Amino acid sequence: MTENKYTVVNPLEVPVGRYDKEKLWLFHFGAYADVRAAVWHRCLDDALEEAAEWLAETHPGLLTEPDYADARRELGPEASEDALQEAAEADLTYTESGWLVGYEWWVDAADPADESYKIVFRASAEAWLADYWPKVLDVAGALQEEAATLDADVHTEGCDGTDCDGCTDVRLQVDRTGGWDVHTGDPCYDQSHGGYWGSDILSARSDFESMAEDLIGQAAEAWWQERHCAT
Ligand SMILES: [Zn+2]
Repeated sequence: MTENKYTVVNPLEVPVGRYDKEKLWLFHFGAYADVRAAVWHRCLDDALEEAAEWLAETHPGLLTEPDYADARRELGPEASEDALQEAAEADLTYTESGWLVGYEWWVDAADPADESYKIVFRASAEAWLADYWPKVLDVAGALQEEAATLDADVHTEGCDGTDCDGCTDVRLQVDRTGGWDVHTGDPCYDQSHGGYWGSDILSARSDFESMAEDLIGQAAEAWWQERHCAT
């Protein structure tokens, strides 16, 4: 089976910073291991709980309960409660969402160099960017505000920004959480140089929306660059 279909249970938990410790756990459930879930988490125990919660919603038939009555029949009336419990739960794995049959699930911690990791990472990262990255209309609004201070009549086509009151260097800065800011003027005065950047020359006649789209794209490109090993 070459297919690689994992449902990503928590795509927005994808590691987005250099110091994130999230690992990718790949779960296989069912007698044929054909129910697959990918979970971002630091530790296996919590990842299993998340996967089991997802399983309870999507494939409740794969969760079960220990059969204490059956254990009683097997061990006889003399058996202690502890022995019954041990026998009934022997081949099962407990989760808060229900029990899993031991031989009906297994898990791998995905290696970032593996294809499955890359596929899940890319899908998760795209979902993360869609949710947290700055939006075109918001950035366009900020550009328009900055442009309002510029003299619309001075700037001409082909101007490179030197000695012109009609235009200015403009930079979009996006941080690791998707927070952003628009800076104008000399980059030497930017208070922080961290994060991901896009730059352009802004005038009162700029097309703010397409400039915003371009700046957001430049910053996103830098964000992907930093993660090239995972994509
Ligand atoms: Zn100019």
